[in-house]
Amino acid sequence: MENCIFCKIIRNEIPSKKVFEDDRLLVIEDIGPKAPLHLLFIPKVHFSNCLDMADSHDELVGYIFRKAGEIAREKGVADSGFRLVQNNGELAGQSVFHLHVHLLAGRELGWPPG
Ligand code: AMP
Ligand code: ZN
Repeated sequence: MENCIFCKIIRNEIPSKKVFEDDRLLVIEDIGPKAPLHLLFIPKVHFSNCLDMADSHDELVGYIFRKAGEIAREKGVADSGFRLVQNNGELAGQSVFHLHVHLLAGRELGWPPG
Protein backbone atom coordinates (compact mmCIF):
# COMPACT_ATOMS: atom_id res chain seq x y z
CA MET A 1 0.00 0.00 0.00
CA GLU A 2 1.45 3.30 -1.11
CA ASN A 3 0.90 5.40 2.00
CA CYS A 4 0.99 2.75 4.72
CA ILE A 5 3.78 3.45 7.22
CA PHE A 6 4.47 -0.25 7.83
CA CYS A 7 4.58 -0.98 4.07
CA LYS A 8 7.13 1.86 3.84
CA ILE A 9 9.19 0.28 6.64
CA ILE A 10 9.01 -3.08 4.82
CA ARG A 11 10.24 -1.38 1.62
CA ASN A 12 13.05 0.28 3.63
CA GLU A 13 11.72 3.75 2.79
CA ILE A 14 11.52 4.49 6.55
CA PRO A 15 14.27 3.28 8.90
CA SER A 16 13.51 0.80 11.66
CA LYS A 17 15.34 -1.27 14.22
CA LYS A 18 14.98 -4.76 12.81
CA VAL A 19 15.02 -7.77 15.10
CA PHE A 20 14.10 -10.43 12.52
CA GLU A 21 13.21 -10.54 8.84
CA ASP A 22 12.37 -13.18 6.28
CA ASP A 23 10.24 -13.30 3.15
CA ARG A 24 6.95 -13.25 5.10
CA LEU A 25 7.56 -11.32 8.27
CA LEU A 26 9.35 -8.31 9.72
CA VAL A 27 9.92 -7.86 13.46
CA ILE A 28 10.99 -4.39 14.64
CA GLU A 29 11.34 -2.44 17.85
CA ASP A 30 8.35 -0.17 18.52
CA ILE A 31 9.31 3.50 18.19
CA GLY A 32 7.36 4.39 21.35
CA PRO A 33 7.98 1.44 23.66
CA LYS A 34 5.29 0.78 26.29
CA ALA A 35 7.40 -1.81 28.11
CA PRO A 36 11.15 -2.54 28.45
CA LEU A 37 10.74 -4.94 25.50
CA HIS A 38 8.18 -3.83 22.89
CA LEU A 39 8.39 -5.48 19.48
CA LEU A 40 6.05 -5.35 16.49
CA PHE A 41 5.42 -8.42 14.32
CA ILE A 42 4.48 -7.11 10.89
CA PRO A 43 3.52 -9.44 8.03
CA LYS A 44 4.91 -8.29 4.70
CA VAL A 45 1.52 -8.59 3.02
CA HIS A 46 -0.80 -5.66 3.75
CA PHE A 47 -4.18 -6.21 5.38
CA SER A 48 -5.76 -3.88 7.93
CA ASN A 49 -6.64 -6.13 10.85
CA CYS A 50 -8.51 -9.35 11.57
CA LEU A 51 -11.65 -7.89 9.93
CA ASP A 52 -9.71 -7.79 6.66
CA MET A 53 -8.29 -11.32 6.76
CA ALA A 54 -8.51 -13.76 3.87
CA ASP A 55 -8.14 -17.54 4.07
CA SER A 56 -4.68 -17.12 2.61
CA HIS A 57 -3.57 -15.21 5.73
CA ASP A 58 -4.41 -17.99 8.21
CA GLU A 59 -1.04 -19.71 8.10
CA LEU A 60 0.80 -16.39 8.33
CA VAL A 61 -0.96 -15.45 11.57
CA GLY A 62 -0.02 -18.83 13.06
CA TYR A 63 3.55 -18.23 11.95
CA ILE A 64 3.57 -14.84 13.73
CA PHE A 65 2.54 -16.47 17.01
CA ARG A 66 5.14 -19.23 16.73
CA LYS A 67 7.85 -16.71 15.84
CA ALA A 68 6.78 -14.52 18.78
CA GLY A 69 7.40 -17.46 21.10
CA GLU A 70 10.81 -18.10 19.54
CA ILE A 71 11.86 -14.46 19.85
CA ALA A 72 10.51 -14.24 23.42
CA ARG A 73 12.84 -17.15 24.26
CA GLU A 74 15.77 -15.51 22.47
CA LYS A 75 15.15 -12.23 24.33
CA GLY A 76 15.00 -14.02 27.68
CA VAL A 77 11.40 -13.14 28.57
CA ALA A 78 9.76 -16.51 28.01
CA ASP A 79 10.02 -17.61 31.63
CA SER A 80 8.99 -14.30 33.21
CA GLY A 81 6.06 -13.84 30.83
CA PHE A 82 5.10 -11.64 27.92
CA ARG A 83 1.96 -10.40 26.23
CA LEU A 84 0.87 -10.44 22.58
CA VAL A 85 -1.62 -7.72 21.64
CA GLN A 86 -3.37 -7.00 18.37
CA ASN A 87 -5.69 -3.98 18.20
CA ASN A 88 -8.70 -3.80 15.87
CA GLY A 89 -10.22 -0.39 15.18
CA GLU A 90 -10.08 2.98 16.84
CA LEU A 91 -11.67 2.26 20.22
CA ALA A 92 -9.17 -0.56 20.68
CA GLY A 93 -6.36 1.89 19.99
CA GLN A 94 -5.34 0.77 16.51
CA SER A 95 -3.36 3.60 14.95
CA VAL A 96 -1.65 1.81 12.06
CA PHE A 97 -4.06 -0.06 9.82
CA HIS A 98 -1.62 -2.75 8.67
CA LEU A 99 -2.08 -5.81 10.86
CA HIS A 100 0.61 -6.19 13.49
CA VAL A 101 1.05 -8.01 16.77
CA HIS A 102 2.72 -6.28 19.71
CA LEU A 103 5.02 -8.27 22.00
CA LEU A 104 5.30 -6.58 25.42
CA ALA A 105 7.54 -7.81 28.22
CA GLY A 106 9.94 -6.83 30.97
CA ARG A 107 7.46 -5.43 33.50
CA GLU A 108 4.27 -6.51 35.21
CA LEU A 109 1.44 -6.08 32.73
CA GLY A 110 -1.88 -5.11 34.28
CA TRP A 111 -5.12 -6.92 33.61
CA PRO A 112 -7.61 -5.93 32.33
CA PRO A 113 -5.74 -3.73 29.86
CA GLY A 114 -6.73 -0.06 29.67
P1 AMP B 1 -1.43 0.18 17.09
O1 AMP B 1 -1.76 1.39 17.93
O2 AMP B 1 -1.84 -1.13 17.65
O3 AMP B 1 -1.91 0.38 15.66
O4 AMP B 1 0.16 0.12 17.08
C1 AMP B 1 0.94 0.90 16.24
C2 AMP B 1 2.31 0.95 16.84
O5 AMP B 1 3.23 1.34 15.85
C3 AMP B 1 2.45 1.95 18.01
O6 AMP B 1 2.84 1.24 19.19
C4 AMP B 1 3.53 2.92 17.51
O7 AMP B 1 4.40 3.33 18.54
C5 AMP B 1 4.24 2.09 16.46
N1 AMP B 1 4.90 2.85 15.41
C6 AMP B 1 4.39 3.86 14.68
N2 AMP B 1 5.29 4.29 13.80
C7 AMP B 1 6.40 3.53 13.95
C8 AMP B 1 7.69 3.49 13.32
N3 AMP B 1 8.02 4.33 12.33
N4 AMP B 1 8.58 2.57 13.77
C9 AMP B 1 8.26 1.73 14.76
N5 AMP B 1 7.07 1.69 15.38
C10 AMP B 1 6.15 2.59 14.98
ZN1 ZN C 1 0.78 -1.76 4.87
